Amino acid sequence: MPSRPEWTERVLKDTALQFGSLDLDRHAFFFDFDGTLAELVDDPADVRLADELRRDLLALSARTNGAVAIITGRHRAEITPLLGDIIPIAGLHGTDFPGDVANDPGLAERVSAVRPLIEQLTTLVEANPGTILEDKGQGLALHWRAAPDKGELMTHAAEQALATLGPRWRMQPGKCVAELRPVGDDKGVALHRFMALPAFAGRRPVAFGDDLNDLPMLQAARDSGGLAIALGERNLPADLRLPGPSTLAAWLAERLAA
Ligand SMILES: [Mg+2]
Repeated sequence: MPSRPEWTERVLKDTALQFGSLDLDRHAFFFDFDGTLAELVDDPADVRLADELRRDLLALSARTNGAVAIITGRHRAEITPLLGDIIPIAGLHGTDFPGDVANDPGLAERVSAVRPLIEQLTTLVEANPGTILEDKGQGLALHWRAAPDKGELMTHAAEQALATLGPRWRMQPGKCVAELRPVGDDKGVALHRFMALPAFAGRRPVAFGDDLNDLPMLQAARDSGGLAIALGERNLPADLRLPGPSTLAAWLAERLAA
């Protein structure tokens, strides 16, 4: 075990006590990706998942007979190369649920509504170094983690884009990011949908998230008799708080070794 700062050891001891009640036979585990399993990075394209954590997530899935899922704001197709296809992934905050997007008649309409905005906002981010435009197909996100002084400008641009898209769209604020996505499913809906599947049914959900878009998922876990676990500095309503992804990864490694 690599040495860790003393505070991390303290957090892990407390966490181990709290997690002592988690039962791999009776709980189901739901993880956000960015800021929860992986550290936040300036450019979302640079995100990495540690090999040890990937291995432990697969082990957790095996130990729970498949009661592990990822619920992310990204496309499923972005996470699959990092994690493989054993653990199910709901993308785009639940809009991109395994098995049903291909049949969604509104998908092409939503994708075409976003295209003109991608062109406009590309010009904006090119004029503002450190800002990034993420094309999510049926949505988009403006990032300014590497240019914090551009937050107001980017938020305003996102608000204008939202006005163009109309009432069937919403803006999802986050950490140095503003995202435009269709009104409809959220991460809480995705959690409930997973819980209806055979691998999850009858278990109690435990949800891990770090940002505002995780709130519906954290609430859904509590509403289903489970636990909400928040990571990072945001004061999200939760049953337990962890400093960040490295603590979660360390806990998981210890829990699986027990
Ligand atoms: Mg996150």
